[in-house]
Amino acid sequence: MNTFIYAAQKKAKTKARRPASSVEVRESGVHGRGVYATKAIAKGTRIIEYTGKRMVEEEDERIFIYALRKVQPGEELFYDYAMELDEPITKELEKEHACHCGSSNCRGTMLAIK
Ligand SMILES: [Zn+2]
Repeated sequence: MNTFIYAAQKKAKTKARRPASSVEVRESGVHGRGVYATKAIAKGTRIIEYTGKRMVEEEDERIFIYALRKVQPGEELFYDYAMELDEPITKELEKEHACHCGSSNCRGTMLAIK
């Protein structure tokens, strides 16, 4: 294993265990589990993706998520997946990957649409 990656992962684990973490995972009204802010998060703060285990395994990389705006305590955090498919995006596929985040600028789908 690359030393740099090992050091980064070790650091992330230490950070995740800290009780003062700014996010927690709990039941979500939108989907199975959601990530919620436990305290205010300033715009631009780096938030580590804890739930992207599958993506991390596939890409063998860490994924960083940054706060695009100030987040209030108790707010659920949403991540724009902007998924790309190897097939033309139809209305059916858009519906299958529907997004229910409730954001005013939501595309209505988790797929990347040009
Ligand atoms: Zn959305």
